[in-house]
Amino acid sequence: MFSICCFGCECEHKYIGVVSVDPDCVKTGIKKYECEYCDKTYEEVLSPYWHTPNNDGNCQRCDIKIATNLEFVLLQTCDGYSVIGGGKKYFEDTTLTIPSVYKEKSYYTERPVKEIGENAFTNLQFTYVNFPPSIKVLRNGAFSNCVKLKKTSFYKIEQINKNAFSGCVLLSKIYLPKTLNYIGENAFKNCFSLTNIYYEGNKSDWDLILIGDGNNNLLNANITFNYVGN
Ligand SMILES: [Zn+2]
Ligand SMILES: [Zn+2]
Repeated sequence: MFSICCFGCECEHKYIGVVSVDPDCVKTGIKKYECEYCDKTYEEVLSPYWHTPNNDGNCQRCDIKIATNLEFVLLQTCDGYSVIGGGKKYFEDTTLTIPSVYKEKSYYTERPVKEIGENAFTNLQFTYVNFPPSIKVLRNGAFSNCVKLKKTSFYKIEQINKNAFSGCVLLSKIYLPKTLNYIGENAFKNCFSLTNIYYEGNKSDWDLILIGDGNNNLLNANITFNYVGN
C-alpha cells in the first residue's frame, strides 16, 4: 500500500480527498486533500449541484420550481445548449430558475445549458433570475427590458453581451464572478437602479474586464470586491 522509494529520490505525494463541506443546490462545497506521506494539503471548491428536477419540475432537494417548457438549441460546438425562449407569461412576477442541463428526447445524454440566446427573455416580467453554474454566455439583449427584474447572480459567467440587461430599470443588485471577462456595449444601459455590484475578484481583476460603452450605470455603482458567496 505504501510506496517505498530508494534513498535520495523525492516521493510523489499521495493525496486522499475528503469532502469537508457538502455543496447543495446553490452553495459551493469544499473538498480537502491531505498527503498520506507528508503534511501537504490543498482544498478544492466544489460547484453547487444546482437544482435537479423531479417529474413534476420541482427540485428533488429544495423543492424550488425549475423552469420547464423553455426552448433550447444545441450549440454549434455540440457540447451544450442555448436557451432561446419559452419563458413567456408562465413566470410573470416570479423567479425564473434556469436548469443546468437539458436532454433532447431523441438523445441519450444530457448536456449543460451554457448560454442564454439573443433576446431570449426580452420584455418578460421576472423579478429574479437564478442562473446555474453552467451558464457562460448571455447573448445580445437576453434580458433587455425585463422591467421588474431586481436582482441576479452568476457563478461562472464569462460574457455578458450587448444590451443583455438594458432597460432593466429596477435591477439594483448583481453578483459577478471572477470568470467574467467581457461586458458588451449598453449591456446595463438604463439600469437606473443599479447601486450594488458584488464582485468575486479584486480591483485588478475587475480592471481586466473588457467593458463596452454605454455602461455608466454599472460603472457608477458601488463595487464590493472579493465578495464570497452569491
Ligand atoms: Zn506528500
Ligand atoms: Zn434545489
